[in-house]
Amino acid sequence: MTERDEQVRADVNAERSGPEAGELGLDDLVAHNREHECDGFGRSKVCVRIIGVARLPTRFGLFRIVGFWNNRDGKEHVAMIHGDVRGKEHVPTRVHSECLTGDVMGSYRCDCRDQLEQGLQKLSSLECGMLLYLRQEGRGIGLLNKIRAYALQDRGLDTVEANLALGFRDDERDYSIAAHMIASLEVKSIDLMTNNPDKVNQLKAHGINVAGRIPHQIPANPHNQAYLETKANRSGHLMNFPPQTRLPDQGDEPLAESAGDAAGPRPA
Ligand SMILES: [Zn+2]
Ligand SMILES: [Zn+2]
Repeated sequence: MTERDEQVRADVNAERSGPEAGELGLDDLVAHNREHECDGFGRSKVCVRIIGVARLPTRFGLFRIVGFWNNRDGKEHVAMIHGDVRGKEHVPTRVHSECLTGDVMGSYRCDCRDQLEQGLQKLSSLECGMLLYLRQEGRGIGLLNKIRAYALQDRGLDTVEANLALGFRDDERDYSIAAHMIASLEVKSIDLMTNNPDKVNQLKAHGINVAGRIPHQIPANPHNQAYLETKANRSGHLMNFPPQTRLPDQGDEPLAESAGDAAGPRPA
C-alpha cells in the first residue's frame, strides 16, 4: 500500500468514526432541491436538481458524489466534492467533460484520463474542492459521433474537418449545466482549474463568480509533447512550456488530433 493509499484509508476511517460532520454540509440540499424550479440557465434554459449525495472513497482521496437530474438532456451529471464547499469562496473547481474512450479505456487519442486523475488528486490534496463531471461526450457530439469522427481522422481529416463533415461545429459543449450545478451547491465563488480563458468566460457569462484561475498542469507524455506545444502556440491557452511540462485542458482543443499523432503515422 502506498503512502497515498494509507492517507486515503486514514481519512475514510476518520470520517466513519466521526459525527458524519463532512456530510452535514450537503445532505439537506437534496430536500431543498426537491421542489426546485427556475427560469433555467443558458440558451436551452437548463435546470438541474440535486437528487442524491453519497460518500465516495476513491484511490485519489475521499469525496462525496452528488447526483444531478436535469430537465433537458436526460443525462445524469455528477459533482465530486472534497471537503466543505457550500457557502465558500474561492473553491478550487475542475470542470471535466465525459470521455469514455479516454477516461475509461485509456485512449491515447486524447489525455482526458490524465486530466481527470490529476484533477481529482490535486483537489483531494487541498482543503476543499470539486470536480464537475459533465456527460457531454466528444466535445458535445456524443460517443457514436465521436467514433465516426475518429474514423474520418483515421482517413486523414483533422478534428475540425471531421466534426464539420458530420454536421457539427468544432465544439458543441455547453457549460450552462455546470453553472447551474455550482449554483445548486451554493458555492459563492470558484477558482477554476483550467488553462482555457474561454471556459472562464463561459462560466462568467452564466453568472458564476470565477474569482481566480489555477493552472492545470500535467507532466509531459513523450508521445505528444511536441504536438501539444504546437497547439499551445496556435491557441489562446494560458500556458508555458518548461521542459517536460504540458498544459492540455480536456477538450479545449482538438485533442483527438493528438491521438493520431501520438499513436504514430496515420494510415494513408
Ligand atoms: Zn433551476
Ligand atoms: Zn478524451
